[in-house]
Amino acid sequence: MPLLGFHQARRAPLSRWQRTVQALSWPRPGGMLLSAAGAAVVLAAAVGVQSAYPFQSTTAAPAQRSPEPAAVAGNGPASGAPPVLPTAAAGLAAHAGTPPSSIPGGAPTTAAPVPPVASGPQAAAVHNMSNPASVLVLVNKHHPLNPLDYQPPDLVTPNVPAGPGELVLLRREAAAAVERMFAAAGSNGVSITVQSSYRSYATQVSLYGSYVAQKGQESADTSSARPGYSEHQTGLALDIGDANVGADCEFTICVEETAAGRWVAAHAADYGFVVRYPPGLQAVTGYLYEPWHLRYVGTAAALDMRARGIPTYEQYLGLQGAPGYK
Ligand SMILES: [Zn+2]
Repeated sequence: MPLLGFHQARRAPLSRWQRTVQALSWPRPGGMLLSAAGAAVVLAAAVGVQSAYPFQSTTAAPAQRSPEPAAVAGNGPASGAPPVLPTAAAGLAAHAGTPPSSIPGGAPTTAAPVPPVASGPQAAAVHNMSNPASVLVLVNKHHPLNPLDYQPPDLVTPNVPAGPGELVLLRREAAAAVERMFAAAGSNGVSITVQSSYRSYATQVSLYGSYVAQKGQESADTSSARPGYSEHQTGLALDIGDANVGADCEFTICVEETAAGRWVAAHAADYGFVVRYPPGLQAVTGYLYEPWHLRYVGTAAALDMRARGIPTYEQYLGLQGAPGYK
């Protein structure tokens, strides 16, 4: 049979099958039925595919003004920056390197799931966030220590300057990192002191209880971390001050302007520490800006966060904010 071109002059004879198909094809009624059946199949498949994907949009909880922690019981006195209301989008934007300050906040926002990370320091952090014995443990108002009265097994006293009467206790790894960090700061002419470090569950029970007795629980929650919910109980957190600045500047936002505050903001990650409560992210961390509160997470995570411009540990873990207790 000769090969027929596009402009064939003569129809080739149709086979029986071809005639049947032609008889059922659009625009004849049989063709319409076939088309309707085809559309139904396509629609059903589309619905099936959609339901097969588990990604669900969750609405971010409306940000609320959170309690202001106090120096003695929580994470130092609150002061300074008014709370910005970050959204889940801020977290994703932070992953993308966008400064959170550029994200309009306040309105409930649809949060897309953060894809799991298969490897690297971020995956290690996600894996260890619930392990109280890990330096990567997450503690915030949604994630208490488990057990609630967890006590670190390896508290030691680092050889670093401390505030008057302050017994410094940190876990061994964090203590060694603090010694290296303070030594490096010292070689740059910056004198950092430790103003607070490990606090036990029992200490926090006593402090929080006294606040509740004085002011009631609602008010206590504005000024004292509940037992089991303070990073200081991990033995991985410390509050710093500047040895050359007066006590007026302890646990206040002016730490940011001291040599010590500026130095840790720039260099703490090199030693495995993060400034845990950055400005304007209270709806993520649950705390106002605390330029004095450092948390040891290890150099891998701290450097990864800094390199990628991720400001909070919650965002690093792909979690939504923890502005208040559940
Ligand atoms: Zn603190």
